[in-house]
Amino acid sequence: MRLKDKIAIITGAANGIGLAAAHKFAWEGAVAVICDLDPAQVSAAVAAVEAEGGQAEGHVVNVADRGTVDMMVAAVMARFGRVDILANNAGITRDARLVKMTEAQFDAVIDVNLKGVFHCTQAVADIMSAQGAGSIVNTASISGTHGNFGQTNYAAAKAGVIGMTKTWARELGPRNVRVNAVVPGSVQTAILDTVPEHVLDGIRNACWMRRLGRPEEVANVMAFLASDEASYVNGTALEVSGGISF
Ligand code: NAD
Repeated sequence: MRLKDKIAIITGAANGIGLAAAHKFAWEGAVAVICDLDPAQVSAAVAAVEAEGGQAEGHVVNVADRGTVDMMVAAVMARFGRVDILANNAGITRDARLVKMTEAQFDAVIDVNLKGVFHCTQAVADIMSAQGAGSIVNTASISGTHGNFGQTNYAAAKAGVIGMTKTWARELGPRNVRVNAVVPGSVQTAILDTVPEHVLDGIRNACWMRRLGRPEEVANVMAFLASDEASYVNGTALEVSGGISF
């Protein structure tokens, strides 16, 4: 078990990649602290992890709302007294071409995908620094490294996540707190529900493996980066895309 007894906060953990990470982290021995928006979805995710014999607890958290983040971290500290892992995974899309994108669409994605990562990391940074140990894994995207049609807001946020990852790796590295990012290509989750099939076909063709990824294929890499096996990996943005070129 690579994450035995680690306390692992995972945001956006009720669905998709975050839920796969909750399962994987718990399978590796961690307590999965499942954070998401909808109470029923949070309860269902906790039950699903527990049904596999894993340890989990749920919190209703909106990462864009610093107050709910702080309440969750305070509750985790009161119960466990430490935070070993933070997976900043919550994310949304509000796609539109540049000339059609509204300020509300731009702000919504920045608030969750960029500021939410800032909120959660700031909430645990002093705790991990005082412990002299911690691992933070941010979920970026190839939209942030390559850009993507219709994703001005999302690409900006994900490029920002990579920039924050490298900044925090420098700031927190001396305290043995590692900060890394996974950079997924296109992964079969609900976030792709609004993407037309012909666009998905183009994505499959751009991928050297000619298929979309599965959530657990990203979660496996997140677990590695979170674990002590990655003890000298810091400030990296690791692409998990099956190989891709545009
Ligand atoms: P998903 O929609 O299946 O899951 C995202 C989860 O985040 C949902 O459970 C949602 O409720 C939660 N969430 C949204 N806003 C939140 C908020 N304000 N506070 C807390 N939780 C919130 O999507 P996914 O594909 O699993 O996405 C997970 C991460 O992976 C996101 O950051 C996404 O940008 C990133 N990503 C996904 C893909 C892909 O192709 N699926 C590719 C690259 C990056």
